[in-house]
Amino acid sequence: MNNQLVELKQAVKARLDAINDPLTGKGLFTAGRISGLETREGGKVSFTIEAPAEAAAAYVPLRDQAEAEVRAVRGVTSVIAVLTAHEAKLASAGGVGRVKHIIAVASAKGGVGKSTVAVNLACAFASLGLKTGLLDLDVYGPSAPTLLGTGARKPEMGEGKILTPLEAHGLKTMSIGYLVEASSAMIWRGAMATSAVRQMIDEVAWGDLDVLLLDLPPGTGDVQLTLLQRVPLAGAVIVSTPQEMALADVRRGLAMFEKTRAPILGVIENMAYFETPGGERTHIFGEGGARRTAAQAGVPFLGEIPIEVKLREASDAGTPLVVSAPKHPAAKRFVEIAQAALANVAGMAKPAPAIRFS
Ligand code: ADP
Repeated sequence: MNNQLVELKQAVKARLDAINDPLTGKGLFTAGRISGLETREGGKVSFTIEAPAEAAAAYVPLRDQAEAEVRAVRGVTSVIAVLTAHEAKLASAGGVGRVKHIIAVASAKGGVGKSTVAVNLACAFASLGLKTGLLDLDVYGPSAPTLLGTGARKPEMGEGKILTPLEAHGLKTMSIGYLVEASSAMIWRGAMATSAVRQMIDEVAWGDLDVLLLDLPPGTGDVQLTLLQRVPLAGAVIVSTPQEMALADVRRGLAMFEKTRAPILGVIENMAYFETPGGERTHIFGEGGARRTAAQAGVPFLGEIPIEVKLREASDAGTPLVVSAPKHPAAKRFVEIAQAALANVAGMAKPAPAIRFS
């Protein structure tokens, strides 16, 4: 390492140590909260803040502060600060709630059925006996009010401006669509989207949950990355259709999660084929593409969902298929996929840190 980089590292260390660790009152460095500090050519800095599980929530704003302060150090051009913790702890009206696993559902573009998959997957987790929440973060076009049939219901605000999530189909749910009129344009810019997301995670009484699914806005750009860096993720699932174009997008999705260091729980191929009433399958968009891409990228393939009129109808009616027709083959697929995803959460949880936030 050249002298300049050594000096830069020292300056960053000093700046981090000037920030007090909320638990011990010592400097962040002295308190042993910082690991993996790296300074690279061109002033690129990255480090990890190791948050104790029982006070993880307190470290979320601290991460932002640390990142901002390090960015202000002379010679620093970019900063990635990752927050890690074993367990996420989120605000809740009756104290602090515990959310065991936060799982993001992502897609590289709109219209591949990401929200349909997220909602049915959430219902599938609930059907397996897990306390499940669904957070619709699609700031461009929130779909939870329609897909869950929550329509014009509004979440109540309790003490300390904490919102109570709407319960629907056995899920606790929150959506930007519950807070803002659907008719108002929602082409939100990065900072606004981020603060709305923050609010929906930190200021909602989620209580104790086994799984919280995040329905991300479509795409793999800065908006998504910024959202993900604010949340402690157990992992991510990527929804794709089988076309080659879509598959190039999957690769971009994988690259995005690499940056957040969240493990990929797997790829789901939606609209995989159409089955005629006679049982004949037509692979409208080609066959097996998502499975191949997953294999090439070395990430798990979680399963296929066919093009299914009943699934679309149930979505439009606000009664997710997994709840309204649990015996339907497509509903069973969602339950199998949920089980596969859970097995991967368990398999991928490393002893320390199990969940990373950033
Ligand atoms: P995204 O969230 O990716 O934009 P949506 O979940 O809103 O996509 O789905 C787009 C449209 O496709 C919706 O009308 C939805 O009902 C329909 N759809 C999604 N998946 C399927 C499927 N497997 N079979 C039939 N229709 C589907």
